[in-house]
Amino acid sequence: MGSLLFVGSKLSFYYFHNLEYIEKLRWKGLMVGYVNYEVLIVMEMLKTNNEHIYLPISAIAEILYCPRNFYYRVVEGAQDLNAHVLEGRLQEDRRNERTRVAREGYSQVRSVMISSEKLRLIGVVDVVEEDSEIYPVEYKKGSLKESLSDDVQVCAQAMVLEEKLGRDINRGYIYYVQSRTRREVVLDESLRSLVEKTVNRGFEIINSGEIPTPAADARCEGCALARRCLPFEVSCLVDESRKKTVRPIPCFNQGRVLYVDEPGAYVRKKGERIWVTKEKDTLIDMPLCNLEQVVLSGTVNISAQLIKILLERGTEVHFLSRGGKYYGCLQPSLSKNSVLRIAQHKAFQSNSQCLKYAREFVRGKLTNMRTLLVRHNRTQKDKNLLLAITKIKSMLKKLDDITSLNSLLGIEGICSKEYFKVFNCLIKDTVPFNFNKRNRRPPEDPVNALLGYGYSLLTKDISSAVQVVGFDPYIGFLHRSNYGRPALALDLMEEFRPIIVDSLVLKVLNKGVINKDDFECQVTGTFLNDSGRKKFYRAYEERRHEMITHPIFNYNLPYLRIFELQARFLAKVLQGELYEYKPFLVR
Ligand code: SF4
Repeated sequence: MGSLLFVGSKLSFYYFHNLEYIEKLRWKGLMVGYVNYEVLIVMEMLKTNNEHIYLPISAIAEILYCPRNFYYRVVEGAQDLNAHVLEGRLQEDRRNERTRVAREGYSQVRSVMISSEKLRLIGVVDVVEEDSEIYPVEYKKGSLKESLSDDVQVCAQAMVLEEKLGRDINRGYIYYVQSRTRREVVLDESLRSLVEKTVNRGFEIINSGEIPTPAADARCEGCALARRCLPFEVSCLVDESRKKTVRPIPCFNQGRVLYVDEPGAYVRKKGERIWVTKEKDTLIDMPLCNLEQVVLSGTVNISAQLIKILLERGTEVHFLSRGGKYYGCLQPSLSKNSVLRIAQHKAFQSNSQCLKYAREFVRGKLTNMRTLLVRHNRTQKDKNLLLAITKIKSMLKKLDDITSLNSLLGIEGICSKEYFKVFNCLIKDTVPFNFNKRNRRPPEDPVNALLGYGYSLLTKDISSAVQVVGFDPYIGFLHRSNYGRPALALDLMEEFRPIIVDSLVLKVLNKGVINKDDFECQVTGTFLNDSGRKKFYRAYEERRHEMITHPIFNYNLPYLRIFELQARFLAKVLQGELYEYKPFLVR
């Protein structure tokens, strides 16, 4: 098999026979690469040693600026974008519209693909100019400034060009687009030696597999990777004393969700809009932009063309049964973070690791169940509630001593039984339903129908969070690898069940948002009807977007962002960055 060329910003990859083939293909003397992407890594597939791994030249600047940034981009293949990155790419695309400029005594070629076997570097030089000498020009988005990492990048480009052309290059330039100014970089011995040291440092990071510590300073403001990296949060968790000096910044994702559950409805694309129709009626007509998820429940059809465009734009499509069973989802693409999936599978093989994580998921669930009961008992002063609260508290104390998953499940089972035994006390007398015990498949009463539907919606969101982070959702630690069930999503949702779903069910019942007209009783069980589902979707969306103060970092953010945050913390524990997973506990 030949070499594999991963291509950065286009989310695609190309096979080439080998590096020479790329050279033949892309070079003719000083050949112009008609490409506007950034080459990341060329890897000889049959040989796994580092001789055949090439570093992207653009990553040289990242190693010096923030090694953690380099790790995420190169080792984990992160493609995260923000406004700065997009603007830079647009400028690059505009520049590349003209590939060659020639005047008397001066010529300029753009997007020149180069590689060096000696330095093991590969990349694209923005511009190569030639007057009496030849030199590279690197374009930067901002205004004129001194930057050693930029100097090293342009020097690396020059060194690769020297190797290709067999000519000496003594200078390079950095062109600052905003201020329209050029800065000359003199390529002296100390700069050349820094290039070599930086390349070696890059390979050290790749070989060690360790994630460099976060910068957690001004560099992180405006960094496209902040949402993944969590620099301030990680610093606080690793070193408590830093809490006073670092200021975590919450990141948001507040896209909209389209729910469609009309039997026989057809969802399709029309121009830049989504159309939901049934026979000749238009049920929904809305813009395609800023859509986070599409949730289809029951017998709803969706066009292949719409699925394609949704996936292209990073929108997930989730499928539920009409009764609320979660079937699964279509995700834009599998995360490139194979390092995390390897760590997850390794932890899954170890009983002690599984127990360590499972214990925290159960701790989160039981603590939040207890908190929900305590909140209600502040006004109710019910002795049964108090008994359940006391029992759960005593069981929580036993968690640290258990040594097997079975004992853990035993404790979880006892506490859930105690909790649901008194759940009916939390429902107001004016509500025309009773709750006796938890039942499902199918639910036998309205309260169980609401709980079941809510847990399915929560599974959808937690599944989405674990996949965004790069986990394999089917490998869990508490739920283990239950065939066909998103085991890790079920693990992580334990701590959220009481605070997202149970409390929401109590709210919609006690406030009369959902009443007996919103259910249909069938021979097989009790289900939400059309009006009931619509009301419940609305209430669930409000809960997902509800702002909450984070108990550790003290910033406000919506629950839906907390789902992702918890999944990211679990990833950082599995990859050895954080020591322990802390469940999300409410006060
Ligand atoms: S957020 Fe900060 S620490 Fe993280 S990659 Fe960006 S600059 Fe580096």
